[in-house]
Amino acid sequence: MTTIKQLPEVLINQIKAGEVVERPAAVVKELVENALDAGARRVVVELEQGGLRRILVRDDGRGIPREELPLALARHATSKIASLDDLERVASLGFRGEALASILAVSRLSLSSRTAVEPHGWRLGGEGGLASAEPVPAAQAQGTAVEVLDLFFSTPARRKFMKSPGTEARHVETALRRLALARPDVAFALSHDGRRLLDVEPAEDAAANERRLAAVCGAEFLANAIYREAELGGLRLAGWIALPSFSRAQPDLQFLTVNGRGVRDRLLGAALRRAYADALHSTRHPAFVLALTLDPAAVDVNVHPQKTEVRFREAARVHDFLFGLVHRWLRELRPEPEHHHGV
Ligand code: ADP
Ligand code: MG
Repeated sequence: MTTIKQLPEVLINQIKAGEVVERPAAVVKELVENALDAGARRVVVELEQGGLRRILVRDDGRGIPREELPLALARHATSKIASLDDLERVASLGFRGEALASILAVSRLSLSSRTAVEPHGWRLGGEGGLASAEPVPAAQAQGTAVEVLDLFFSTPARRKFMKSPGTEARHVETALRRLALARPDVAFALSHDGRRLLDVEPAEDAAANERRLAAVCGAEFLANAIYREAELGGLRLAGWIALPSFSRAQPDLQFLTVNGRGVRDRLLGAALRRAYADALHSTRHPAFVLALTLDPAAVDVNVHPQKTEVRFREAARVHDFLFGLVHRWLRELRPEPEHHHGV
């Protein structure tokens, strides 16, 4: 005989945490998205041992009032949506209210924050899913700092799946580059064991934006890419596509955002591959940094706990728009074949 038992909250959170935070890069993505949602102008990320020992994400955003710190760590608690209607047109990166709770479930976490009206900051810590009872005063500039120690200490099965610190740090770096490309107006810094991996200032104009692109994607990408933008029937596409001659052995320079959210979308990926198909050997991968914008109500972002997948109301139209444009832009690059009209 077996009996059905309701699982305790802490255990539920530890199980659920696996969906949201699979590795240090996912933790950093969630924490940086929170910083961006809080209006941060500068986001600083520090890692030790690939983030497995320590992750710190610090921002200068609006902060969290003392009395809301416990709620910030609670599951399904969010300031970003209040109704299903809000979810329909969500503009923030977060909305599920489970990132901090998930990270707390699998680490030793400390959340420090200070709003503009508070004379000093407050800190609330916790570990393995349990937050301490009361916030304590903390030295903190306006904004928020989240420190995550000993990730997955409470879930050894997950911990075992982590790669070397160097590999985990590279995943973090890729995640941060993605976010930096999506938000050229924000400064980002990343260090690993004291070594700088990324350091970009906000881009004030087009030239500064290109310098940032070179810093994030490499000068070689920039030298081999063209900038294009176009808009049609409520869909807008803007960004850089690399010349087919700058193809890659790996799909490691493919950055696509949908309404400012970095996504890995099968449909859009296929559209871009098809657009390059004439010009590229089938074993090579194109490189691009593209931003797609459309009415938020035409996209469902609530598909996956990590929010890297989206669904489109008019998927075929979005596919054709992306394919059609990139295909045309690439064709325009090639010299026109001579036309003879029989004269
Ligand atoms: P979500 O982002 O989906 O709302 P999270 O668990 O990531 O859920 O965060 C919970 C809440 O904590 C957020 O809705 C926000 O109000 C607050 N919060 C988290 N991080 C920050 C931050 N860096 N700055 C300001 N507020 C934050
Ligand atoms: Mg969040």
